[in-house]
Amino acid sequence: MAFLLIGSDQFQHHVTPPGHPESVERGEVMSRVAAAWREQGHATAAPRPATREEIERAHDNGYVDAVAETSGRAVALDADTFTSPRSYDTARLAAGAACQAVEHALEQDAAACALVRPPGHHAERNRAMGFCVFNNAAIAAAHALARGLSRVAIVDIDVHHGNGTQWIFYDEARVLYLSAHQFPFYPGTGAAAEIGRDAGAGTTVNVPLESGATDADYARVWEAIVDPVLEAFAPELLIVSAGFDAHARDPLAYMRVSTAGFGAMVRALWHRAQASSSGRIAIVTEGGYDLDALEVSLSDMLRVVDDPATAAPWSYDGTPAPRGDAAVSAVRAALRSYWPTL
Ligand SMILES: [Zn+2]
Repeated sequence: MAFLLIGSDQFQHHVTPPGHPESVERGEVMSRVAAAWREQGHATAAPRPATREEIERAHDNGYVDAVAETSGRAVALDADTFTSPRSYDTARLAAGAACQAVEHALEQDAAACALVRPPGHHAERNRAMGFCVFNNAAIAAAHALARGLSRVAIVDIDVHHGNGTQWIFYDEARVLYLSAHQFPFYPGTGAAAEIGRDAGAGTTVNVPLESGATDADYARVWEAIVDPVLEAFAPELLIVSAGFDAHARDPLAYMRVSTAGFGAMVRALWHRAQASSSGRIAIVTEGGYDLDALEVSLSDMLRVVDDPATAAPWSYDGTPAPRGDAAVSAVRAALRSYWPTL
């Protein structure tokens, strides 16, 4: 069995206040993309809710209780993270879909993608943050560890740094967290010097990119940092925190990645999974707030994962990439002793 898409109209049941960028309309985009995919004859599956045990691998018991208690109510969990009556159920479904993507990837040596909201990567062990309730990618990685894996890589392409994912695995050697993000920017973390601690020292790789980064900057970073580190770590599973808010059209951030750039990035990750992790790649959506850019980017991602030959390969062609060059230098200075191939 090949690629599997996991999606549901139920992701529209998490309702945010009027004007909030992490809107129900994003769920409608995901539903349209999934419906079109299904109509083309591809395999799709409905999500299941994550169990309490699965969620508590990444979150404190008391925090899960606090979210559960918002059932039936609209509550502000932080300055920009809100619940509606069905948010707890929707968040459990998002985490469960991420776990299903892992199960499919591991059982089939294949790719899977969970189109979910609310997003997850800002959610920390004991608090919601930045539109995120449960940390779907972290719960997915913990699910893989619970199934016996000892090397799981999370690549976070969302334009914001995934502080939640970083801290949850900051001292965990079995999980490589690798993020390329706008910096300095929300949420404030993600400097190159944040590299993990104790047994996890060196397994947090932050690639801080100055505002305005282009496809060339990202391609430079991919060839010099992302791909070599993934190759050296040799993950048994690759999880992608797939945010599309580095898109040039995104209203919340200031990067200039094109739709084709995202296609190339996805293609590069797919090829790395083929080479390093027996084709096992589990993609979980994060941000992306221009609805048109999100729709095209998600559709392209499915097409590329299903048939990578449909995207142009991504190789750094020497186009000036000052932001990429600066990020590469910073990461090498921070991490070369841990990753000799850098
Ligand atoms: Zn984001």
